[in-house]
Amino acid sequence: MADQSSVRAPSAVPVDDAVLPFEVSALDVRGRLTKMGPALDDILTRHDYPPQVGKLLGEAIVLTTLLGSSLKFNGRFILQTQTNGPVSLLIVDFVAPDRLRAYARFDKLRLQPGMTTGELLGHGHLAMTIDQGPDMSRYQGLVALQGGTLEDAAHEYFLRSEQIPTRVRLAVGEEFRGGDGPKHRWRGGGTLIQFLPKAPERAKQADLHPGDAPEGSELHTVPDDDAWTESQSLFATIEDVELIDPDLSGERLLFRLFHERGVRVFPNQPIQASCTCSREAVAGMLASFEPQDRADMVENGKVVVTCEFCSSSYEFTPEEAGVEQDA
Ligand SMILES: [Zn+2]
Repeated sequence: MADQSSVRAPSAVPVDDAVLPFEVSALDVRGRLTKMGPALDDILTRHDYPPQVGKLLGEAIVLTTLLGSSLKFNGRFILQTQTNGPVSLLIVDFVAPDRLRAYARFDKLRLQPGMTTGELLGHGHLAMTIDQGPDMSRYQGLVALQGGTLEDAAHEYFLRSEQIPTRVRLAVGEEFRGGDGPKHRWRGGGTLIQFLPKAPERAKQADLHPGDAPEGSELHTVPDDDAWTESQSLFATIEDVELIDPDLSGERLLFRLFHERGVRVFPNQPIQASCTCSREAVAGMLASFEPQDRADMVENGKVVVTCEFCSSSYEFTPEEAGVEQDA
């Protein structure tokens, strides 16, 4: 039997496309960390997004991975933005325990170099939907997007919907390589911590979140718990490069942050880029349409449906698509 209390050095071996759950019990903090390589690159490269759109969708993918990987059973977590900016739609769909797919809609003509996340998205909302299967109620949390980052929106979501003190960090970048292989690859990473003290009054938060106020500003009406303050200041030292770096293991990063308090890690949960579409599912969707709508889809003697997530094309004869033939 494994010794539950064993202490070991952090593994130096980086693990891509996996979520590493952890706990810092001295600070009443639980969290998850992910480093994403091939799975992220596969989704973003498949669509050949412009770099700005790829980076933004990548951040949404990292966020969804952090949130969706906490679901049990065959739950589904869907993150969706709908906004009036050049990137009008982001959808990331996570099917527990490990399947991830995503796509973005954007207007190429409105994209300009150097746009911030807020400028790319514009104004609108972010919806996070948790679906735990047909016997469970569906939960949806909505937050307004008003020019901030996805991290800001996630903080807002946890403050309003779950009321658990939470911090999130997301980073996505392109790795450029020489040689004969692919010239560039997308990489990303992110981490989330939550303050879960046994005494619930310790987790009470101020009504207005201080957001990006400089350190030392006193905007709170309820002072943060000392342990949570310490956790947040450690968390604030994480740099984007540490989340993206293919050679820095998640365990090493956690050790750098929390070694004075001791951090316990749990087994990695692997993640894969994998679409859930199928010919049967598309046929089922066609069957649910009105007969006239099905008939309108016939072009050149066939019905072709393309999956927006993975770009797979499904071709049906009018008979297979259930189109009623005129006598
Ligand atoms: Zn698909």
